[in-house]
Amino acid sequence: MIPAVMPTYARYDLAFDHGEGAHLWDAEGRRYLDFGAGIAVASVGHCHPHLVEAIRDQAGRLMHTSNLYNIPGQEKLAQRLVDNTFADAVFFNNSGNEAVEMGVKMMRRYHYANGHPERYRVITVSGAFHGRSLAMLSAGKQEKHLKGFGPEVDGFDQVAFDNLNELRAAIGPETAGILVEPIQGEGGIRPMSKEYLQSLRKIADEFGLLLMFDEVQTGVGRTGKLYAYEWSGITPDILATAKGIGGGFPLGATMATEKVAEAMTAGSHGSTYGGNPLAMAAGNAVLDIVLAPGFLDGVQKAADQLKSGLDEIARKHPSVFEGARGTGLILGLKCVDGVTNGDVVKALIGNGLLSVPAGDNVVRFVPPLVVTAEDISEALSIIEKTSSEIEQSAA
Ligand SMILES: *Cc1c(COP(=O)(O)O)cnc(C)c1O
Repeated sequence: MIPAVMPTYARYDLAFDHGEGAHLWDAEGRRYLDFGAGIAVASVGHCHPHLVEAIRDQAGRLMHTSNLYNIPGQEKLAQRLVDNTFADAVFFNNSGNEAVEMGVKMMRRYHYANGHPERYRVITVSGAFHGRSLAMLSAGKQEKHLKGFGPEVDGFDQVAFDNLNELRAAIGPETAGILVEPIQGEGGIRPMSKEYLQSLRKIADEFGLLLMFDEVQTGVGRTGKLYAYEWSGITPDILATAKGIGGGFPLGATMATEKVAEAMTAGSHGSTYGGNPLAMAAGNAVLDIVLAPGFLDGVQKAADQLKSGLDEIARKHPSVFEGARGTGLILGLKCVDGVTNGDVVKALIGNGLLSVPAGDNVVRFVPPLVVTAEDISEALSIIEKTSSEIEQSAA
């Protein structure tokens, strides 16, 4: 008989009872170091007292009113995002998928408002992941995700990662914009070079296209800047953020420059839950922490420690790992052929460390941004020990 929970996930046989910082405990009291953070969501760690208090307080006063009325928490969070990014306006939604898909709608709407309704197609790159709705599956074009869900939604053209010739060749009179993740997360922690991102900006400007960054995974301090685009020296026209912005509360946002946002007139888009008072309490509490002076410097320091440790492990265990990659606290170890990332993740669990498999045979580490130097040392010694065990079992 089918279990009551639909079997769409091949789950690890683990369940957690409570958490604190980068640590989780199961019901038997066994402690795990959480370097998966619920897939880069628990940005400020589990049960951060400031976040817990903000949610508790708001839940006791008012959770939801709908967007038929003004929501002061929305105005506050939107203004803070505007003050700290390229964006001039923000729309709040509930998930990464929604945040990216709204960005695609905005690309179309912008060209429609500017007399070019024929411009509706969006260029994405191989290895992309933008979510699981029918449209976002078609944006990502990953065969394993699309299987059985055809036909694809029209309007997406995919080109090879890091290939500007292919990208230029894909631009036509119907092209509306370009959508990329500055560091591909699900695709296997694949950073796009500064030069590539700068070229995307140039090409977008040359052809009158909009440039959108999917920062659902890289945003909210994950790379040591509030948003990863800050490393590139250019700005996008649209940016989608989610995962870490709610710190565990479901929250996403689509941000844009004025010229794009002004096409989104009353009635053009909506969300019942999006930006409700409870979500805004969570988002504002996360930003209180992430925007506090020195916080992002701490992320960069932690990132340096973790990255150099992973580099060293990869050097010491060339029969297990090809190398470490990524920046900030979105890092990965690429396994060699013959070693499967899923097996490594399982072996790490056995030794008390949680990580997340990513595409391209990569083991992904996305710890809470509040991870301590001791947590990182402990994680590195678990990874070191596990690598030796894998080596020995293969010998
Ligand atoms: C997780 C993710 C999404 C989808 O987010 P959901 O909240 O699962 O809908 C989209 N884009 C990127 C880059 C992601 O990492």
